[in-house]
Amino acid sequence: MEKLQQLYEGKAKKVFATDDPNIVIVDYKDDATAFNGLKKGTIVGKGVINNKMTNFMMQKLEEAGVPTHFVKQLSDRETAVKKVSIVPLEVIVRNISAGSFSKRYGVEEGIVFDAPTIEFSYKNDDLGDPLLNDYHAVALKLATWEEINLIKDYTFRVNDFLKSYMKGIHIDLVDFKLEFGKTSDGKIVLADEISPDTCRLWDEKTHEKLDKDRFRRDMGNVEDAYQEIMRRLMGE
Ligand code: UDP
Repeated sequence: MEKLQQLYEGKAKKVFATDDPNIVIVDYKDDATAFNGLKKGTIVGKGVINNKMTNFMMQKLEEAGVPTHFVKQLSDRETAVKKVSIVPLEVIVRNISAGSFSKRYGVEEGIVFDAPTIEFSYKNDDLGDPLLNDYHAVALKLATWEEINLIKDYTFRVNDFLKSYMKGIHIDLVDFKLEFGKTSDGKIVLADEISPDTCRLWDEKTHEKLDKDRFRRDMGNVEDAYQEIMRRLMGE
């Protein structure tokens, strides 16, 4: 497979065309942003970790029956994935209160929910990714009801898998964000990434944050936290 021209550069990844019209290559950067791009920085080694963790999880999820865009890891930072059109929704699952949930509803972080919650944001930087419900998403034609129901079903399956996998390495999966895409033949697949950039991961005993909140909140030891996740996941 040949890496051709760059198609797109996002906040954390670049996307390149290949000689196969149905395959693109994502290239993970060390660049970090927060608060809709207002805060910028670098997390050294993050691109490698996010690439490897995402691919690791996507392969496991495929085995668990969730279709993904994953095709093949090409290098430490590069992965071939199916070309999709991204459904412009951020799908967020929460098992424990934190972040914008705590802020919005005026509750402390760390409340363990009896059952996971799901919410959607409209992926639109100009509007600041506003919260919306499934009826709004259908009204705006961001997805059909059929697609939304499938996305919800896959998302809860991802939560079941990811939560128990993380528990096995003594991490509480607090919340995470998923994105889905549509392949050229109209199939909904899990896309984007699953990494400490997109998940809140707390040590089960100490409740130490091992995710991007260390960057967002200037807590220090950001690189160490990403490395620690990698070490527990893959012994690296
Ligand atoms: N998240 C993300 N990208 C976003 C917004 C949120 O990956 O643009 C992730 C975030 O890392 C966390 C979860 O989604 O794991 C829930 O985030 P929240 O809504 O609490 O927003 P935040 O506090 O990060 O602004």
